[in-house]
Amino acid sequence: MPRVLITGAAGFLGSHLVDRALREGFDVIGVDNLITGNLRNLAHLADDSRFTFVNQDICEPLKVEGDLAGVFNFASPASPIDYYEYPIETLRVGSEGTLNCLELAREKGARFLQASTSECYGDPQVHPQVESYWGNVNPVGPRSCYDEAKRYAEALAMAYHRHYKVETRLMRIFNTYGSRMRLDDGRVVPSLLSKAIRGEALTIFGDGSQTRSFTYVDDLLEGAWRLWESDEVYPVNVGNPEEYTILEFAEKVQSLVGSQHEILFSPLPKDDPLRRKPDITKANKLFGYEPKVKLNEGLERCFPWFKEHALLEDSAK
Ligand code: NAD
Repeated sequence: MPRVLITGAAGFLGSHLVDRALREGFDVIGVDNLITGNLRNLAHLADDSRFTFVNQDICEPLKVEGDLAGVFNFASPASPIDYYEYPIETLRVGSEGTLNCLELAREKGARFLQASTSECYGDPQVHPQVESYWGNVNPVGPRSCYDEAKRYAEALAMAYHRHYKVETRLMRIFNTYGSRMRLDDGRVVPSLLSKAIRGEALTIFGDGSQTRSFTYVDDLLEGAWRLWESDEVYPVNVGNPEEYTILEFAEKVQSLVGSQHEILFSPLPKDDPLRRKPDITKANKLFGYEPKVKLNEGLERCFPWFKEHALLEDSAK
């Protein structure tokens, strides 16, 4: 069986990617140091002989016996709460960690895919964001540990491609949601869903007029897989361009959960982008990418998972 290695495998996206790679017929080595991930996300694979888990910080060199067809680098604290708590770890995993993944890909002749981010565009002055836009990132602001690490990782991948001819792929992921997100990771979907499930007021930042686009996890993985199979070396946006204000999103959560909880407004965090929306023309032209799951449907699909886990967490307290 061909094999791939996935870093960040115990995280939200990484664990779903493990499932997808297994379904695609690959054996999978999942690597994670559990800084923000949880082995619960991989518990369903405990008896799957095609999956191996390695508890390791990818800032240490990656040693693998035998062949590898791919290295997917999904390791990094990813929510603002997490990278504010772990700024140095975030910079290190984006730089040293990515370097180790690229070295492994070079050694094995494996194709490399980097989970990059819409944060590369910073607080964008071009809307919607197109790959040719170089971004508006504050290099010394509180988000810079994440944004600059991801931008460095893209530069590193391009250097490995140009210098060593490693087959590299750069996926700029836009705000994605689904089951297995941590309820307390501060991102808007788990945060508002779990508050609504618990009957608490929904707190939103600013006046709620800032917009976000929301990508359902299955759509994201479809894009990841198609990009990995494509020939494109330069960054490709993968996301859902349907744009909602945060206030509209909070109202959708209210109607999904079925009761009217109060909406509270708190100050907008520094450098919080006001608008985010991917231009996905490139992904569409390159590999026919088109997200299928509308926000209402995606929320309905993952709502039972969030409900179960919010209640589990409450009963464990
Ligand atoms: P997550 O926190 O759920 O998963 C990240 C995983 O990486 C965790 O399991 C964590 O323990 C692991 N990790 C972090 N540092 C590590 C290290 N040094 N060594 C080994 N493992 C390490 O976050 P996620 O939302 O699943 O994000 C996955 C990737 O996708 C990240 O690289 C993130 O930047 C990127 N991304 C996600 C989104 C999104 O909306 N979810 C958007 C843009 C980019």
